[in-house]
Formats: sequence, structure tokens, C-alpha cells
Amino acid sequence: MPRDKATDQLNDYKKSNPEPPQLTSGVGHPLADKTNSLTVGPRGPILLQDLQLLDEMAHFDRERIPERVVHAKGAGAFGYFEVTHDITEYTKAKIFSEVGKRTPMAVRFSTVGGESGSADTARDPRGFAMKFYTEDGNWDLVGNNTPIFFIRDPILFPSFIHTQKRNPATHLKDPDMFWDFISLRPETIHQVSFLFSDRGTPNGYRHMNGYGSHTFKLVNDKGQPCYCKFHCKTDQGIKNFLANEADALASTDPDYAIRDLYNAIADNQFPSWSMYIQVMTFQEAEKWHFNPFDLTKVWPHGEFPLIPVGRFTLDHNPKNYFAEVEQIAFSPANLVPGIEASPDKMLQGRLFSYNDTHRHRLGPNYMQIPVNCPFRARMANYQRDGPMTINDNQAGAPNYFPNSFSGPMDSAKHHESSFQVTADVARYSSATEDNFSQCSDFFNKVLNEDERQRLMENIAGHLVNAQDFLQDRAINNFTQVDRAYGDGIRQKINRLKKARQSSHLLRPAVISAAAASSKPKL
Ligand code: NDP
Repeated sequence: MPRDKATDQLNDYKKSNPEPPQLTSGVGHPLADKTNSLTVGPRGPILLQDLQLLDEMAHFDRERIPERVVHAKGAGAFGYFEVTHDITEYTKAKIFSEVGKRTPMAVRFSTVGGESGSADTARDPRGFAMKFYTEDGNWDLVGNNTPIFFIRDPILFPSFIHTQKRNPATHLKDPDMFWDFISLRPETIHQVSFLFSDRGTPNGYRHMNGYGSHTFKLVNDKGQPCYCKFHCKTDQGIKNFLANEADALASTDPDYAIRDLYNAIADNQFPSWSMYIQVMTFQEAEKWHFNPFDLTKVWPHGEFPLIPVGRFTLDHNPKNYFAEVEQIAFSPANLVPGIEASPDKMLQGRLFSYNDTHRHRLGPNYMQIPVNCPFRARMANYQRDGPMTINDNQAGAPNYFPNSFSGPMDSAKHHESSFQVTADVARYSSATEDNFSQCSDFFNKVLNEDERQRLMENIAGHLVNAQDFLQDRAINNFTQVDRAYGDGIRQKINRLKKARQSSHLLRPAVISAAAASSKPKL
């Protein structure tokens, strides 16, 4: 029976490395015996001088670094981005400087809420993080497979994530926590509707779109800025699993998406995505009927048409998962000249927290790890030392500034664009900023009847596990999107409750695999 490339990886390794090398210790000493400890007589005890054993055990004890709090389970791959259309009127970013130009890149796809051993087919948004190794340093576009997010103020982010994770007492996923937060914060309803729709269970990572999601600022070589959104549309076509198909795979192949991506690339079926931007002038931003920096909203295509930019192709797999995927560190703060942050509050919050996380997970010198290293730029600054300094630490270059000895110099041509802000400093509530109208467009204009029914089915299947008062509050919010949305969910919940009553399974302690079909693991 033919084996796929992922299953056959070890055979392929042996084919290209037919002769095993001499076994050594971590410091390169050749070793004589890999299977027997150094003991006094055949029954032991073991000698403290068995440095081979001690070295092996001590390294094993330190194999794990902290798991990512979110996006723990993922797959990575490498390839290149190629410019197909000229957008230099909007940005001076070198990656876009001429049609045909190629820039090497890395991508990591992930689920969000599950631990690193969780199922790839869980109902969840998917992380879609891109790292472009440009001549001006690394540009990271750290997005999702959705153009929007659940909240619009980062101060809510830790709480939001806690409600998608495990109950602190039971260590179980808790539908009460989920629906309590969701129903108290109606700005979540647009993304919740995406999550419970068919796109909440994509067929692997190759058949979904990626979005930069935030509003960014582009600046051209004349210093003229505009606002922008990034879209990456799959060239493989959108494909999703139905809830029961996703459930079945969760038990038969929980690593489905990692395997699918690895095999496609190993079989030279290189997946690709076409990149587009939407552009909004500063004048349009001031007058627009929505807040253009609100991450719970899209910029409608009719008003802000997609402008083609380029295409990226993933053509090689990581050689080593831990080195190149577990250790890859993306950050929305990795922006290059020509691409800047906008006032988007969620983006502003992320500018801080990603680098902060990497310093915790990987250490302050995480940028020296090869997969994170800006290898196409010449890094030169005044930062020195710290744990795991693995390059030459900038050798004998001066480590203070200003100096008279050829230390790196700043140059005014790289100034960020300037902008004016005048307003009173306060904690402004954004809770009631039109939470429903775009979701109503999604429900009524984007989905067809079958998709609407499945959306309501999936929500009902999960919401039925929350307490009655939470169901009522959530349904009230769905009703504000559209009467039929709220009513449909109510009817489906009532039907589920009746079925459970008749089978004496009301609020089961253990949710069956079938009932878990629409259970999000955000
Ligand atoms: P359009 O009719 O121009 O666009 C609708 C977009 O919805 C499509 O282009 C597609 O985006 C996306 N879409 C299609 N089917 C589904 C689905 N089953 N689940 C999720 N998304 C789907 O309308 P507007 O731009 O005026 O947007 C209307 C509504 O569409 C929005 O309120 C929003 O809910 C949703 N939407 C809009 C997007 C945008 O950036 N404008 C992107 C995604 C959704 P794509 O081509 O990116 O897959």
C-alpha cells in the first residue's frame, strides 16, 4: 500500500542519508554505547560519572518551551512572495518595489484555542501568520482566516481568551463562560457568526483565505499616507468541512491539517494565495459611516474594491518542526518602511504583546534564532548580551551612542509618517458602536438558505449547553441582527432540549462526540 510523504518521512531521510554518522555527545565526543548505562556490575547502581546518561536526561528534562497561550497547534511552511501588480503609488515598502520581484517568506497556520495536542478540525478561527524577509528587515502580517475579530478593545482580550479556554476549577471547556462573555459583549456577534458558519471548520489550511484583519497605514516615497487592509485569497478555492465531518476527523486524524499541508508541498502541489489590498484615504476615513479602525467590521468591497498586489507560494516544508515552526516568532510590530500602524486599538494592543510573549517563550535574543533572523537586512544596533547570544554579538562595534567610532548611524529618510491627533484623553466606551448591521448583511446577503440553517444549527448545538438566562440574552442579541436569526436559534434549541429530555440526557456531564460537533475551542 503506497504511503504518503508525511508517513514516509523517515524512509526519505534514509534515502538521502544512507550512512549513519558517528554518534556523539552534545559537545561532539564520539560515544561507544547508546543502550547501556555505566553501572557497578550488571544490576547497578549507576555511577555519577556516567556523563552520557546525565547529559541525555538533563537535556530531555528541558525539551519543552512554554506553549503559546493562543495558537498553540499549528503548521508552518516556507516559500516566496511575488509582486504581480504595481502598488508603489501607495507604498514605498521594498517588498512591493517592482513587478516580478520575489521575497522569501514563512507562514504559520494554526488553530487558536486548543492546546498543542488538540484536533486540527475544531470549530475555531485559524491563525494565518506571514513573515516576509525583506531587505529592510522582516515584515510580519499576523492575521487570521477572518477579516474581523470578536472584540475591538484589547483591554478585553485576556478575559475573552479565558472564556474560550478551560474553567479554572474544573479544567473543562465551559459553555457558560463562553456565552456569558459573548452575550454581554454584543460586538462579538459578527465574528461569532463567522465562527459558527461553514468557514468555522475549514478543510485544512490550504483552502482558506487569510486577512491582515487590522487597518494598516501605507506610505509612499513622497511621504503620502493612506489606510489599507490586506486580503490573501486561496488559489486552491475555499473548502470547508460540515460539522459532522470535522468531528469525525477529530478522532480519526486529529492532525489532518498539518498532514495535508506537509503532503501537498512534499508532492510538489505547492499551495498559493493571491494578495489584494483595500485602500481608504485619510479624508474618507474621517467621513466614513463606520469607525475604519474597528476590528469587528469589514470594509465593504463595493465601497473599497480589492486591488491586486501579488501572489505567494509555499514550496518547501520545514526541515525541523521545533526549530522552524515552534520557534518562529511573529509580531504585528514587525513593520517595515512604507507600512505603519493605524490607530486600530486592537493592533495597538498587539504591537506590545507579541514581542513581550516572545521574550518570555524564547528569550530576549529570539531574533537571533535562524527562522526569526532578518537575514536579508544587516542588523546593527546598540543592544548586546543577554541569555542565548548565539551570533558574534556585533563583535567589537561600539555599544553606546553617540560615538565617534563607526557605530551604526540613524538617517532621517527613514522617519515614520507624521500625523495629527487632538482629543481629550479618556476611557471611551465602544460597546454600543453599531454591533449588528454588518452581521445582518452577512446573515441576509452573503449566506444562502442552507448556510443560514447550518449556522443556526451549529449555534444552537453549542448554546443549548449554557444556562437558560444566557441562552435568552444571546438570542436577544441574535434577534437584533435579524428576527429570523434569533427565532431560528430559539426553535432549534427547543428541539434539542426536547430530544434530550426524551432521552434523559438534559445537560449531559460528558458531551457526546456528536453533540460536540459545534463546540468551539477558540
Ligand atoms: P460582498 O458581497 O462584496 O462580499 C461578501 C464577502 O463575504 C465575499 O466576498 C467573501 O469574502 C465573503 N464570504 C462569502 N461567503 C462567505 C461565507 N459563507 N462565510 C464568510 N464569508 C463569506 O459584500 P461586502 O464586502 O459588502 O460585505 C458584506 C458582508 O460580507 C460583510 O458585512 C461581512 O459580514 C462579509 N464579508 C466581507 C468581507 C470584506 O472584506 N468586505 C470579507 C469576508 C466577509 P472573501 O472573498 O474575502 O472570501
